[in-house]
Amino acid sequence: MTNQEKGLPMWPAVIHGKCPRCRRGDMFATPMYSFKSQVMNKTCPHCGMVYEREPGYFYVAMLISYAMFVAEMVTLAVAIHVLTGSNNPWVYVTVILSVGVILSPFNFRYSRIILLHWLTPGLHYHPELSGDNV
Ligand SMILES: [Zn+2]
Repeated sequence: MTNQEKGLPMWPAVIHGKCPRCRRGDMFATPMYSFKSQVMNKTCPHCGMVYEREPGYFYVAMLISYAMFVAEMVTLAVAIHVLTGSNNPWVYVTVILSVGVILSPFNFRYSRIILLHWLTPGLHYHPELSGDNV
């Protein structure tokens, strides 16, 4: 088995949004930032795994996305305070909401990736599904 026939190691698979089972197929059909809406593949194009395991499965991803948003915004607020020392609330509101809008595609995508890669019980990497003969 050559390197091209194997799935990616865990971190590159997470960063590039690959299927958690084979680590070869793309989870998303569109790029993260584009003027089209983000489209997630219903099944893995390589191994055929169904990503939405049951109806409403990605509601959990909304909670993950919320936690990511809060963590990013608290970090941003502390960074604004440390860097500018401003007490003007409009500085915080403007910067935090702008960055929140910019990061929303990132949060949408990585909340689903985190859910499927790390928080789904019984879903593991199967190297035998990474080959070209699946
Ligand atoms: Zn797959």
